[in-house]
Amino acid sequence: MSKGILFVLSGPSGVGKGTVLDRVFDKYQDVEYSVSMTTREPRPGEVNGEDYYFVSTSEFKKHKDNDGFIESACVHGNFYGTPKKFVQEALDEGRDIILEIDINGARQVRKSFGDAVYIFLTPPSFDELKNRLEKRDSESKADMEIRLRNARSEMTESDDYDYKVVNDKVDSAAERIIEIIEKEKKGRQDN
Ligand code: 5GP
Repeated sequence: MSKGILFVLSGPSGVGKGTVLDRVFDKYQDVEYSVSMTTREPRPGEVNGEDYYFVSTSEFKKHKDNDGFIESACVHGNFYGTPKKFVQEALDEGRDIILEIDINGARQVRKSFGDAVYIFLTPPSFDELKNRLEKRDSESKADMEIRLRNARSEMTESDDYDYKVVNDKVDSAAERIIEIIEKEKKGRQDN
């Protein structure tokens, strides 16, 4: 059986990765989402085990010390990591997986999984990103400043990605991601 394909989606905070991915999963079930572990507090409506595994800093450290992550990073002052077991088992069983992680995490994945497919979701403009973050209103002002500062540097580092998708409209960004997934799957079947 051939191994599954690992897809990595990154993009600045507020660009709408979560919304676009939700739309992808509404329309398309041939790829699975890897739920990350984080030390960030849950936002209203977020569900443990679905959006993230919400853990304490000491639990996170323990998991990391036990080599439990494919990658992990401190993003906007909180720890995030991709649990290794789920991803490895799924890929070994031939299932395709998508990770939603920041640029540092993607760099680590690039070292350990050379043949993953890297997709960068970008806003139509920086001003639009700022608007979206302000509208979301889920962060303190200080948090938002950090996220905006990080977003500027993240957007200049997107050249290493295989695909760039502009999130102008959620539906068309989701369609484009599905097209990319289908194209990559087909490419591997043909080889
Ligand atoms: P948020 O707190 O808004 O859900 O996510 C903040 C940032 O952390 C986003 O850029 C998101 O892509 C990133 N992130 C989420 N999970 C992971 C992970 O497992 N590893 C890494 N490196 N970044 C993650």
